[in-house]
Amino acid sequence: MSLTKQLYELQELDTDIENTQQTLDLKNGQLGRRDKLDAAQQNLDAMKKELDDLNHKRRDAEGELEDTTSKFNDANKQLYGGKVTNSKELSNLQHEVNTLQGLSDKLETKALEIIDKVEAAEGAIAKASGEFQQLEAEWQKEQKQLAADITLLEKTLADLTEQRNSLVAQLEAASVSIYERIRKQKKQAVAKVEQGICKACRISVSASFLQKARGGQLVQCGSCGRILFIS
Ligand SMILES: [Zn+2]
Repeated sequence: MSLTKQLYELQELDTDIENTQQTLDLKNGQLGRRDKLDAAQQNLDAMKKELDDLNHKRRDAEGELEDTTSKFNDANKQLYGGKVTNSKELSNLQHEVNTLQGLSDKLETKALEIIDKVEAAEGAIAKASGEFQQLEAEWQKEQKQLAADITLLEKTLADLTEQRNSLVAQLEAASVSIYERIRKQKKQAVAKVEQGICKACRISVSASFLQKARGGQLVQCGSCGRILFIS
């Protein structure tokens, strides 16, 4: 294999290595990241806290209703018990019974409204919990896939690096160092020549350079400085 063909292969290996490394870095960055899951968890926690507050309000409202009902029952018993006969007292009791009845109705409505809210909140939590579990299952699956991808990419990277090392071992250090210097500056170090034109800078290559390049000698493009490769 000619020197320039070997350098062209080295470039292809380096590109593969770079791409593999990039994908590997990306996947490593995603591994263990649970932002979306944490946000869903926080949302669910907030909903549960709201439900706790509602249940607290519900207990208060029910307690208040119970007190009022008990007072109403006492006043009612007195009113119809026959012990109170004084008409002024009876009239006062009647007024109290009416007031307590009204208050009890209001408190009952309030308690029922809270119960509705509690039920709505419980329903929403059940739905969000189901969604969270699904999200978590998907996340676990994704993470497992990521870990498998990473293992595979690491192996690919090791294989490519080994191929590169063995290729570099066949090359003269001076050629590799020219290649690496150009690659550092221009990213692409080896340019194909097609119909006498350097494909990297699109400028024609002189006849003498073409001849050398055809023979597989290391020639750099007179215009862009890249190593010319004729396949
Ligand atoms: Zn060029």
